[in-house]
Amino acid sequence: MEIENAENSKYRILLVEDDKIDQAAFERLVKQQGLSYDYTIVGSFTQAKGILASTRFDVAIVDYLLGDGTAFDVLQLANDTPVIFATGAGDEEIAVKAMKAGAYDYIIKDAQRNYLKILPQVVEKALAHKKTADALKQYHNNLEALVKERTEQLEEEKELLAVTLCSMSDGVIAVDVQKRIILFNKVAENLTKWKYHEVQGKIVDEIFHPIDEKTKNPGESPIDKVLSSRETETGSDRDALIARDGRECPISATAAPIRKNDGTMLGIVTVLRDVSREREIDRMKTDFISSVTHELRTPLTAIKAYITTILRDHDMTEQTKQEFLTIIDEESDLLKNLIEALLEVSRIESGTVKFSREPMDITAVIEQVLSAVRQLADTKGIQLKVDIADNLGVLQGDEGKIQSMVMNLVGNAIKFTPENGRVTISARRAGCELVINVSDTGLGIPKESLSKIFDRFYRVHRPGKQIKGTGLGLAIVKEIVNMHGGRIEVESELDKGSTFTVFLPLPTQTALYV
Ligand code: ADP
Repeated sequence: MEIENAENSKYRILLVEDDKIDQAAFERLVKQQGLSYDYTIVGSFTQAKGILASTRFDVAIVDYLLGDGTAFDVLQLANDTPVIFATGAGDEEIAVKAMKAGAYDYIIKDAQRNYLKILPQVVEKALAHKKTADALKQYHNNLEALVKERTEQLEEEKELLAVTLCSMSDGVIAVDVQKRIILFNKVAENLTKWKYHEVQGKIVDEIFHPIDEKTKNPGESPIDKVLSSRETETGSDRDALIARDGRECPISATAAPIRKNDGTMLGIVTVLRDVSREREIDRMKTDFISSVTHELRTPLTAIKAYITTILRDHDMTEQTKQEFLTIIDEESDLLKNLIEALLEVSRIESGTVKFSREPMDITAVIEQVLSAVRQLADTKGIQLKVDIADNLGVLQGDEGKIQSMVMNLVGNAIKFTPENGRVTISARRAGCELVINVSDTGLGIPKESLSKIFDRFYRVHRPGKQIKGTGLGLAIVKEIVNMHGGRIEVESELDKGSTFTVFLPLPTQTALYV
């Protein structure tokens, strides 16, 4: 910068002065005092305008009255160049105005030209003033840049926090120590059905207070627990919240204090998780245990009763004895099947299922299943219809598992179809897939259960007409289909019937013979 190097280089001075004598006096001064000025002298505003447009000066000394303008006009064009006003005696008022307008300094010209004596100091002062002003300006600029940078950083952090909170799969509610809501993310909005702008600043109890899912009594809010313990607290495993629309949602809630570095508690942050699915699985497991116990006990009780009768009744006819033994045989089969299903499920769960891959005749497999269930269908007066295409191709897989899959589907169709209904089994080839259809004219499955029937232990709740079962059959079917790289679909209409469709990939010619 010129000003900083001023000690080594000359000051570039512009003198705007229309009086030739004053111009000469200035030049004399520079010469006599050996001032280190590299100066330019112009005699009018127009000339000043021209030179200021192309040249930079460290200081401009400008006479107030120029033929074609005034020093104020020059000041307007000077930009960063410090301007020193030169006014005549008695023009102090102008000098004041000039300072207000941005001049760095002024000198009052006197007839004896004594003002020239102080001119060098005035120039030095103006330069020093400019240096300070520049430094100040630089400091302001730096400060401004810093503030801008910090503000942007804060904005970014704020946005990151907002995006993080938004993308969290859990609900987040933060409150201050007066329990006023200060933060409420999207999931919290979805769970409570309140919008953030509606609850901001409200006491949290108005929006969120857990109830006991079983008794419906208000539970202790984890937020209140944190307020008294000042530690992280978890709600009960029976908590539920009532949303704005009155709907109940099972939740798991954890609240933790928000602390400053010095430990002072500023508020509480609560994380809410929708645990409907987990609670449903728990319920299903409990149902399963009672269902299995019941299913095991029923045939066992019958077996025990018939055996006791046979043992006690020595006069029993051979025919009755045979009938009882047949029942015992059937009930033992039931028990065996149930235990096998349980074992299959546990094998699937532990991943130790044995699975062979052999070419098989699917028509024969379906026929074996049909002959096994024909008697059962006949006793219910259910018509069994079969429609198997000729060109099925050769399925590669585990014959035992495929048979158990068809058996489960056909067994269910017969089980859930009232007397005199119809069960149809069809098989065809579609492209490189084998499509097996099992449809019935039975009870049907409610829409809301369709996505759950393949879950382990799930059974459609049919008040008054619950049909025995374990809820394991379709889970096993789905696993078998998956093992063969296929898929299963279901369509159903309540009280009209259901159709289960299995798609299994058939090997391509090349794959079959490699
Ligand atoms: P289970 O038959 O032992 O109850 P599954 O896993 O085979 O168990 O079936 C699960 C549930 O799906 C059954 O309890 C039943 O409610 C429903 N379901 C399965 N197949 C049918 C069908 N063909 N018609 C109506 N409901 C069915």
